[in-house]
Amino acid sequence: MTVERIPVSSGGPEGTNSAYVLPERGVLVDPGPPGEEAWAELRDGMREAGVAVADVDHVIATHWHADHVGLTARVAAAADATIHMHERDAPLLADYAAERERRLRRDRRTMRSWGVPPALATAVVDGDRPSPLPDETPVEAHAAGDAVAGATILHTPGHTEGHLAVSIDGHLFVGDTLLPMYTPNVGGSDTRTRNPLSAFLESLDRLERRGGTIHPGHGTSIETPERFDAIREHHRTRSRRVFDCVTTLDRPTPWAIAEELFGEMQGVHAKFGAGEAAAHLSHLTTHGDVARVGDEPLRFEARRDPNAGPTAFE
Ligand SMILES: [Zn+2]
Ligand SMILES: [Zn+2]
Repeated sequence: MTVERIPVSSGGPEGTNSAYVLPERGVLVDPGPPGEEAWAELRDGMREAGVAVADVDHVIATHWHADHVGLTARVAAAADATIHMHERDAPLLADYAAERERRLRRDRRTMRSWGVPPALATAVVDGDRPSPLPDETPVEAHAAGDAVAGATILHTPGHTEGHLAVSIDGHLFVGDTLLPMYTPNVGGSDTRTRNPLSAFLESLDRLERRGGTIHPGHGTSIETPERFDAIREHHRTRSRRVFDCVTTLDRPTPWAIAEELFGEMQGVHAKFGAGEAAAHLSHLTTHGDVARVGDEPLRFEARRDPNAGPTAFE
């Protein structure tokens, strides 16, 4: 089966997006960010690959982030194609305008519970610009195990709650779950997720068991399985640091821990940083390494010997 990768620039912090065309299946995965430049890059790339936009029957988006769903409506309209997403992420594109309002209220509420200073939280919410997406878009919502044009939909929550991967003929299209150059944000990139790091680690296991050539949402394909272990190791080390912060600080909030980990955070990084700390704290709580001792904001205490460390990754 032919897989054509088309780099589409986003101007976003994650760098160039990777759109994938499977010409024999009429499938396009993650067409890229919104905007004229990206649209021109996608069309030129498809032309070079010998695929007409009109030949696309199915547009699959791995998750709701604008740099992945940005061009879905445009391609679907031009090709009379169907857009497919996991049922937990589908509403954030299908009902974009209303869901965006809901998301901003949830982000503000969640950042308050993480202990983010109000002025910074307000800056994050005020700095959120609407993406140039239709208020509403028809989307076909899927559960894990569904088939689209011979491809199997896998649920890989963590980076977002309804993140999916596409498995077909020894190829895995993984969106932002596994990236070649850095570890994707877990915790701040979707404030709906309850225990995003535990979910993310299970998603990595699911993808590794499935096997195949990994095609990430940014950058080029990954053929080596070591990347799975590198990302697990990154989180293991970070969880250990978070645990150490809980033992040395006085009942810290996620925000206090994020400041220890990342220093000063501006703009949306305040949400990503605090969310990352909160994700590690939830994971450690699940394993009984720390316990929640306050609610507004959340506060944590250690439940293991500081020298022995957490058991979460044992
Ligand atoms: Zn993303
Ligand atoms: Zn992305």
